[in-house]
Amino acid sequence: MSDVRNVIIIGSGPAGYTAAVYSARAELKPLVFEGSVTAGGALMNTTDVENFPGFPDGIMGPDLMDNLRKQAERFGAELVADDVVEVDLNTNPKVVKTHSGTFYANAVILATGSGYRELGLENEKRLSGHGVSWCATCDGFFFRGQDIVVVGGGDTAMEEALFLTRFGSSVTVIHRRDELRASKIMQERAFANDKIRFVWDSEVVDVVGENKVTAVRIRNRKTGEETELPAGGLFVAIGHDPRTELFKGQVNLDAEGYIQVEAPSTRTNIEGVFAAGDVVDHTYRQAITAAGTGCAASIDAERWLAHQN
Ligand code: FAD
Repeated sequence: MSDVRNVIIIGSGPAGYTAAVYSARAELKPLVFEGSVTAGGALMNTTDVENFPGFPDGIMGPDLMDNLRKQAERFGAELVADDVVEVDLNTNPKVVKTHSGTFYANAVILATGSGYRELGLENEKRLSGHGVSWCATCDGFFFRGQDIVVVGGGDTAMEEALFLTRFGSSVTVIHRRDELRASKIMQERAFANDKIRFVWDSEVVDVVGENKVTAVRIRNRKTGEETELPAGGLFVAIGHDPRTELFKGQVNLDAEGYIQVEAPSTRTNIEGVFAAGDVVDHTYRQAITAAGTGCAASIDAERWLAHQN
């Protein structure tokens, strides 16, 4: 076969671009499929990022991703804003198809990230980064002294609510049912915290605010009654889905659909296939951890390739 790449990287978030920087500097001439709509990944949808090391004054999410992109390009990574639509990872070389063609590589790094579930409200999108958030670790600090609403009833929602009590003057958890899905221990912790109160059998039907969130509109699912709850922040904690549809039946996924790797390495069950970032990670889900595993995936791929020759 004439044009077999050393490595193809699927995804252009912190994991994909970091893997690209390292692979390019290792002279592997990586080909990166960035995705057509969401090139740059999750941080393209946010404003200030204050916890990525090296930026003492913080940096806007899109600027950080633009910097990472330029850094990968500077060392010779080939970046293509196209979606991968099919892969065959069990052949040698591995096959990656996009809308524009079919490509071959000895090693593939999967870095397609994961998507936070949204409530699906028009104003939720509009006010994303202006009071609507999906990540307390990322954004909690911006809500000091404010009333905060958390939507959800699972462990993540309780974790977010408890973490947010450090910053908010109050934290109200809105849940669709009259009991939580969260584990008993997380429920107990949340119930014991004076700052947290619960609104049961209710859903958020609108997010109110011109340029930033000022209130959340909720409807009681039993009575149909709608009320407005003043709040400076809305944290949506109703789950996230790893983008692994393409890889089903090829690499091993866990029960929730995340790619399984032989941690602390980034090796999947398929020789020459590595995975990094939020597509692997249930736990940390930060730009810096995604970048860290992107680096590891590139080094793992480079060493694996060296052993093939
Ligand atoms: P992603 O950033 O999700 O990137 C995945 C990439 O894969 C995308 O480029 C997408 O286009 C591409 N892709 C997917 N499918 C395909 C396909 N079929 N073909 C080609 N490409 C594909 N973290 C922090 O550390 N600090 C913060 O302040 C912070 N704020 C956040 C604010 C918001 C609103 C959100 C949503 C997240 C925030 N995070 C923050 C979390 C952080 O963004 C993620 O942990 C990080 O982006 C994960 O990186 P990743 O590379 O694994 O995936």
